[in-house]
Amino acid sequence: MPDDLADNSNERCYPPWFSREAFFKVRSNKIKIQGVGEILMERSRRAKHIRITVRPFKGVRVAVPFGVSLARAETFARSKAEWMKKHLCKMHQLEQAHKTFSENYIKIDKATAKKKLVNRLNELSEQHGLPYNRVFIRNQKTRWGSCSAKDNISLNCKLANLPEELIDYIMLHELVHTRVKNHSKKFWQELNKFVGNARKLDKRLNEYRMLLID
Ligand SMILES: [Zn+2]
Repeated sequence: MPDDLADNSNERCYPPWFSREAFFKVRSNKIKIQGVGEILMERSRRAKHIRITVRPFKGVRVAVPFGVSLARAETFARSKAEWMKKHLCKMHQLEQAHKTFSENYIKIDKATAKKKLVNRLNELSEQHGLPYNRVFIRNQKTRWGSCSAKDNISLNCKLANLPEELIDYIMLHELVHTRVKNHSKKFWQELNKFVGNARKLDKRLNEYRMLLID
């Protein structure tokens, strides 16, 4: 941030109720917290309270509502250093998992991934008597797969890098959607017939969610 913010001579030129911060329209600020590193303090119109978020590859951000001074937000942020450290540690693990995944991902080219996924989908479809209409291999950022009203199945090409058990789980999940379109009790019961413990696998899949971003 500009050094002139610390220059008190500027402040005296303006009425006392007019803060230096408001005058210079400070929208963001970076501060360093020992053991945490650099954090970004940013004005936010949406924030109702001071809010700290730790995001993968982006680090710590403190959203500061209008009406709260950056100085106050900084004091608050510093008091939450331990919380930040804990969450950063978790985030670093996810980042590492993501890096490992990305490196392996390069090894499987899209064409090979497509072949592998389509073959396995057809195997499972025939084996369990769950026919589908068409299959699309896409590069989605938010989901591993989906099944349309017309029983067209879309699979994420990144799926090819998941453990076999999870690949099968997702494929069977989508194949069962050809019978049950929602996530009702009936759906999970049906899916359990093919995968054993669907909820457990669904939870395990959550550990890989991070890998979708790319
Ligand atoms: Zn589903």
